[in-house]
Amino acid sequence: MGTLFLVATPIGNLRDISQRALDALHQADLIACEDTRETIKLLNHLGIQKALTSYHEFNEQKKAEELAERLAGDTKIALVSDAGMPAISDPGYRLVRLCRKREIPVVAIPGPNAALTALAASGLPSDQFMFIGFLPSKKNARRQKLMDLANIACTLVLYEAPHRIEASLEDIQEVLGDREVCVARELTKIHEAYLFGKLSEVRKKIKPIGEFVVVLAESEQRQEKQAPLSRDDVLKKLGMTRNELYDLFFKKKISE
Ligand code: SAM
Repeated sequence: MGTLFLVATPIGNLRDISQRALDALHQADLIACEDTRETIKLLNHLGIQKALTSYHEFNEQKKAEELAERLAGDTKIALVSDAGMPAISDPGYRLVRLCRKREIPVVAIPGPNAALTALAASGLPSDQFMFIGFLPSKKNARRQKLMDLANIACTLVLYEAPHRIEASLEDIQEVLGDREVCVARELTKIHEAYLFGKLSEVRKKIKPIGEFVVVLAESEQRQEKQAPLSRDDVLKKLGMTRNELYDLFFKKKISE
C-alpha cells in the first residue's frame, strides 16, 4: 500500500519549508497540487523534479477517487496546496477521508498555516478560538453567518480575500459590534503588517491589497459577564473608594 503525505508549504517566505516536507517531496512518486503553475515555482526553487497532477475544488470528488486507487496500489503521493497546510480551507479533506475509510496510511507533515500564525501574533486570547475560514461572499449570507457567530464565546479566526476585506469588516462591525481585532496581512512576506485595535479604527487604516487573516476578539460585554469582578473593579464601577464603601455598609448597619 502507498502513503498519502500531507505536505505543508510556505505561505510566503520560502525559507519556511521544513526538512520533512523536503524529504516527502523527494520521496513521493507523484505530487498532487492545486495549481501546477504555483507548485512548479516552488519545486523549481527547491530543485525538485516530479510528476504533478492537479487536485482542486472543481475536480476534488472525481480526483480523490482516482488518487485513492493509486494509493491503494503502492504509489506514494504528496498532497500540497498553493500555500500552507493542505486540507485547511483548501482541497484535501475528501482524499484524506477516503484514505481513512480504506485504511490507507496518511502522514501529515505540519508547517506554515496562515490562521495559526495570525492568531499567535495577534495578542488576542488564544486559549480557545474558533476557525471560521472564509465568510460567504454574498452580503446577506455573510450577515446571516455573522449572526450565527454572535454568541460564540471565544476568539474567531477568519480568512478573507482582498476584494472583500473592507465589506466583510464593515459587516462584522455592524453585526458583532465594535470589537477588538487584529488584521494580519501578507504574513511572512516583505509587506507583512498587523493592524490592531477597534474594528472602527482598523477599518479606517486598511488597504485592500494582499492576503488577510482577521482575528476577532470575543465581545467585551460577554467577557465582562463571564469574568468575576475583582474588588477594585467593583469600586471603580461604583465610583467609590474602599473607605466610602466601608462607611456605607457600616452606617447602614448602625441605622438598621
Ligand atoms: N491552507 C492555507 C493555510 O494553511 O493557511 C489556507 C488556504 S486559503 C485558500 C487562502 C487564504 O489564507 C487567503 O485568502 C488568506 O486569507 C489566508 N492566507 C494565506 N496566506 C496568507 C498570508 N501569507 N498572509 C495572510 N493571509 C494568508
